Amino acid sequence: MDLNFAGISKTEGFKEEFDITDHLVDGTIVFCGENLNIVSPITVKGSAVNYGGKINVDLTITAKVERTCSRCLESFTEEVLSDSNYVFVKDAKDDNEDYYVYKGDRVDITELVLGDIAARLSMKPLCSENCKGLCPMCGKNKNNIDCQCKNEDVDPRMQALSKLFDRK
Ligand SMILES: [Zn+2]
Ligand SMILES: [Zn+2]
Repeated sequence: MDLNFAGISKTEGFKEEFDITDHLVDGTIVFCGENLNIVSPITVKGSAVNYGGKINVDLTITAKVERTCSRCLESFTEEVLSDSNYVFVKDAKDDNEDYYVYKGDRVDITELVLGDIAARLSMKPLCSENCKGLCPMCGKNKNNIDCQCKNEDVDPRMQALSKLFDRK
């Protein structure tokens, strides 16, 4: 996934729009030690502007990533939208750790884009806000089946009390 700065790097004030759709070959993203499948092409849209020799890049990234619901353990697709901004410079003498140095005319932004996507993924993925999760009694997915288990949330203190009463 490359941006081409060949034209823009020569002219200050010059702006270029870009629109990249990328089918990543391996199609996975590493997140918290997990390998997640990217299930749709990643789109990267934005613009690059040459400000005084520095190239300011605005990116809007969209991607769909296969996740496992943290409540019901079913897989679902999480949609990611990320807006970010990067500054690229031709050589490292502009000593600023916020800048990215590029060589030649092309810059590979694959790692940046994957990092942006990972930063947007949720730590507690849910297939839906209202996911009912698994039944603690029978383990069935309560989104699909109404298992009729009696799951009275018995307060352990109340349970102790009722035992006391039983003794009478
Ligand atoms: Zn779920
Ligand atoms: Zn149940």
